[in-house]
Amino acid sequence: MKITLDTTDKSNLDSSRHGEQAPDSPPKADGFGMTNAHDLRLTKNFYLKEFVISQEAERHGYRNEPNEKQIENLKLLCVNVLQPLREIIAVPIFINSGFRSFDVNAVVGGKFNSKHLEGKAADFIVPSMNLVDVFNIIMQKLSFDQLIYEFGNQPRLDRRVEAGWIHVSWNDDKNRNEVLLSKKVSGKTVYEKVVGDHLTIVG
Ligand SMILES: [Zn+2]
Repeated sequence: MKITLDTTDKSNLDSSRHGEQAPDSPPKADGFGMTNAHDLRLTKNFYLKEFVISQEAERHGYRNEPNEKQIENLKLLCVNVLQPLREIIAVPIFINSGFRSFDVNAVVGGKFNSKHLEGKAADFIVPSMNLVDVFNIIMQKLSFDQLIYEFGNQPRLDRRVEAGWIHVSWNDDKNRNEVLLSKKVSGKTVYEKVVGDHLTIVG
């Protein structure tokens, strides 16, 4: 008698894909299917998890879970600003901070009315490019609510953010197209308006 065995090991099919950890909470019937909601793709090059993973949240044990509206806002930010930028520069964009819950926003020293709370802003760097060049491309070619070159003059211990970072937000029909530079002066954050059509000097 011949016995045919099904040798396919189904337990390996979808677990630990990309080395990701299992979701913290069981999948909900919310349209995200059976996979981790963080695997949700917002646009071609951006995934939800890039905007919600926070070292500060993990360090303090805070949840940093956007609701449906906040996820929609993150998607609009990608569709209207980050993905068009990604198409222009054709190199990876590294999101430092996207959505922030109230606790996470407080612990990173965010403003009480930060657009990060609504999922309408992201801080990022582009490791393979001069950040001033990236800033100028956004300023000249894209629409946004606020574009801020943050702390480009501040030496930091983490070499990755030594050149500062870019904050950009999208606020639909309320976009201000405001361009600013932030600095620390005597321990306080000061914002300067960037005049002209490009940023030349940082510091
Ligand atoms: Zn920011």
